[in-house]
Amino acid sequence: MNLPPSAKLGIIVDTSEAGAHVWMKKGLCRDLDPELFFPSDGAGVIKAKKVCKKCKVVENCLEYALANRVDHGVWGGASERERRRILKKRKTEVAEVLTVVSNSDDY
Ligand code: SF4
Repeated sequence: MNLPPSAKLGIIVDTSEAGAHVWMKKGLCRDLDPELFFPSDGAGVIKAKKVCKKCKVVENCLEYALANRVDHGVWGGASERERRRILKKRKTEVAEVLTVVSNSDDY
């Protein structure tokens, strides 16, 4: 199963609104123009992702955007399209695990 890197390390990422208030304060984008993270073209996405790549809360940010189905902008170093792909992949993986579990005699 393709777990987020944080989960592989046993770190639980708080994806709640309350949790977001904590990690968002550490975001590298905090003092930048928010428009940078809502680009209108591919070049803008690349530019935003370069900032995210250096951000210490990139995993929190990505998991928050995924959990809260944030549709617009670059979050956690991922574009809207990339986040949709991640969600689709995770959904497929969960379905595969559930199939294995339901076909197992142990359960
Ligand atoms: S990962 Fe990117 S969008 Fe998220 S807090 Fe960091 S700089 Fe901001």
